[in-house]
Amino acid sequence: MSEENASRHFIEQAIDKDLAEGVYDHVMTRFPPEPNGYLHIGHAKSILLNYGMAQEYGGKFNLRFDDTNPTKEKSEFVESIKEDVAWLGADWEDRLFFASNYFDEMFEGALKLIRKGKAYVSELTADQMREYRGTLTEPGKNDPNRDRSVEENLDLFLRMKAGEFPDGALTLRAKIDMSSPNINMRDPIIYRIAHMHHQNTGDKWCIYPMYDYAHPIEDAIEGITHSLCTLEFEDHRPLYDWVVRELEYPMPPRQIEFSKLYLTNVVTGKRYIKKLVEEGIVDGWDDPRLVSISGLRRRGFTPESIKKFVQLAGISKSQGSADYAMLEYCIREDLKAGSSRMLAVLDPVRLVIDNYPEGQIEYLDAPNNLENPELGSRKIPFGRELYIEREDFMEEPPKKYYRLFPGNEVRLMYAYFVKCTGFEKDENGNITVVHCTYDPETKSGSGFEGRKVKGTIHWVEATTAGKAKTRLYENIIDEEKGVYNEDGSLNLNPNSLTEKEAFVEPALMETKPFDRFQFVRNGYFSVDPKDSAEGAPVFNRIVTLKSSFRLPAQNN
Ligand code: ATP
Ligand code: MG
Repeated sequence: MSEENASRHFIEQAIDKDLAEGVYDHVMTRFPPEPNGYLHIGHAKSILLNYGMAQEYGGKFNLRFDDTNPTKEKSEFVESIKEDVAWLGADWEDRLFFASNYFDEMFEGALKLIRKGKAYVSELTADQMREYRGTLTEPGKNDPNRDRSVEENLDLFLRMKAGEFPDGALTLRAKIDMSSPNINMRDPIIYRIAHMHHQNTGDKWCIYPMYDYAHPIEDAIEGITHSLCTLEFEDHRPLYDWVVRELEYPMPPRQIEFSKLYLTNVVTGKRYIKKLVEEGIVDGWDDPRLVSISGLRRRGFTPESIKKFVQLAGISKSQGSADYAMLEYCIREDLKAGSSRMLAVLDPVRLVIDNYPEGQIEYLDAPNNLENPELGSRKIPFGRELYIEREDFMEEPPKKYYRLFPGNEVRLMYAYFVKCTGFEKDENGNITVVHCTYDPETKSGSGFEGRKVKGTIHWVEATTAGKAKTRLYENIIDEEKGVYNEDGSLNLNPNSLTEKEAFVEPALMETKPFDRFQFVRNGYFSVDPKDSAEGAPVFNRIVTLKSSFRLPAQNN
């Protein structure tokens, strides 16, 4: 294998080969969601892979709603899926399709199969069907109607379409091989009767095609070359190939399977997410604790961070699961250089500088991002009364605690050294005020070199501070600890959402939805688009600053 080959994943290698051998002279892919829920991080892998292949080979990418099942689909889901795919940057241009628009051609295809003697109308009930199907070790038995004449099959199928029979009375089966070792090939049902209203086609149809029959036709109609899907369809591929071959499509699409993306200990399945939403446990499909794409977006993740994550997780056929910490790594990497580092105190206690002039406010220079001078600097107000984090003061500090305690001196970030001179408590023993004195000689940027301090803490000036809600998140359900309790209820983490009233520097009060910041020492935050109001931002914590996560060793 050449160097270059080694770094290309197996789907790229397969496409390279197809193009080299002239099987296809272009690449066309699609993302085919069923509009029965919102998309999640797993779907992002499929979207980015399909779109990525079209991009890489100068081809095209379609968005196609697989709406052949009339039961569960909703237009709310169609809209949300479009929004999510677009947000991820996958551009379908003017190629937005609905599989239900192909019902006529699917029906024509069924007539064609019947005329070719490749499909027949069956009278078996569901139970009988199961009985005739055989098992993994035993072949199936032929349907008593298998050799019905073409004329009779045509007549019955047309009458099925015309609504003459109740649900389940008859089915149309492909005539393939009842003794195939692959059960999917044992004369699978390709049409069923269902007297149901369809959101797109209304009451036009009372027969609906089965997925395994419909999907290859959808791909073929659109001229898809590479139909990329997940591993559970591997055993269905022979049927996929059979359908496009028997219907004699001039350029049959090719199905290639890859493994699904799962996150370790995090609930990803549509089913679980749906349950959390429907039971009202979360604030809708876009709750920031969910790994739905809309939830990740609302939490503050960027499309770039998700792309990077999907890329690191890799494309392969082996089923594994990616660490949530890797997703966090990706968003930190993305936000590190571009976001301003702001002052916000999430768990405030008052700090009074007793030797600082009462009523005086001075404006200090704060660089927006030390690692990225291009982001410039801003002025932040400083005065006699500040807020600091409660955990940055201790009455009786343990060893190696370098923050404030009686007699200790620290640096207030971007400001002065302060030395703790005392504190006050309420009747319950809670610290209410910390007292200190400052040394005017030690102003940041003044070049003071008289002495050093070991701790630096952040703060906000009390009289100019804004008050803002912050939301801190933890995993909502730890899959490793079990999704369900013994009584069948969901095993929820009671600490998955913590809200705190924070004090923030004035600049943070003038923000708009999706603005992202680093709050020094507390993590990266993003302005919630749903619950923020003008002058009253709500900040969602995207991720904390620290992690023990290390990139997995790369083999290229
Ligand atoms: P779920 O498994 O969460 O119920 P789904 O498979 O029912 O999702 P579809 O709308 O049918 O959802 O999926 C659209 C496409 O996304 C399919 O091609 C499917 O294979 C792919 N897909 C679904 N889940 C994942 C995943 N975890 N990783 C990668 N691709 C996925
Ligand atoms: Mg599905």
